[in-house]
Amino acid sequence: MTAPLRLLVVEDEQNLASGLKLNLELEGFEVDLAASAREAMARLVQPEAYAAILLDVMLPDLDGFELCGRLREAGNYTPVLMLTAKSSAADRVHGLEVGADDYLSKPFELSELLARVHSLLRRQQWDRSRPTSETADELRFGEAIIHFDTQEVRVRGESLKLTRLEFDLLRYFSQNPNRVLGREELMENVWKLANYPNSRTVDNFILRMRKCFEPDPREPVYFVAVRGSGYKFDPEGRGDD
Ligand code: CA
Repeated sequence: MTAPLRLLVVEDEQNLASGLKLNLELEGFEVDLAASAREAMARLVQPEAYAAILLDVMLPDLDGFELCGRLREAGNYTPVLMLTAKSSAADRVHGLEVGADDYLSKPFELSELLARVHSLLRRQQWDRSRPTSETADELRFGEAIIHFDTQEVRVRGESLKLTRLEFDLLRYFSQNPNRVLGREELMENVWKLANYPNSRTVDNFILRMRKCFEPDPREPVYFVAVRGSGYKFDPEGRGDD
């Protein structure tokens, strides 16, 4: 028998927090609660302590976006499901930009919450169990080497930290070299979002890719914009046609 997976629920509304804990325990998880960002940070000192984090946005000390961003900056890539009363598309995208893996608006159905937690954990399991021999788990272009299995990135000999979404974007590009990829296609396949609210999310990620990988981010040769269509990844670095 495998040990139960441990989840961290960061939620300051006590009734909701204990309701979530109860239901997640019934589902077979072990659950710890944190009522503030500070408490959550203290529990997250060990990066591998939790299988996933359910993170409320409106917390008394720090908001959930900020907390998620700080975790990612600190190199903690535990899957995060953001929970919030804010349901606007802009907030949803903001959550994903700071490194959340999924997003659920309050009020939510328990069944949907459980489905999303399971899908988050499945996806993580899938990422970890990908056989390295059968898939192109390494990407090399220019002076960059990306190991998708160990999430190690080196550019010009320097190591670099990327978020999970940045890895997913790179992976999608590497699977589709020299093909023009529309923002919509990228949002659907990388962010797993249909009907995304604005294309700036994709553009912001491309800017970051260029900053990380291009010899001159203002004259990109690997992550090339195709006017009116989207972006193209050219591992040969030939730039504009
Ligand atoms: Ca709250």
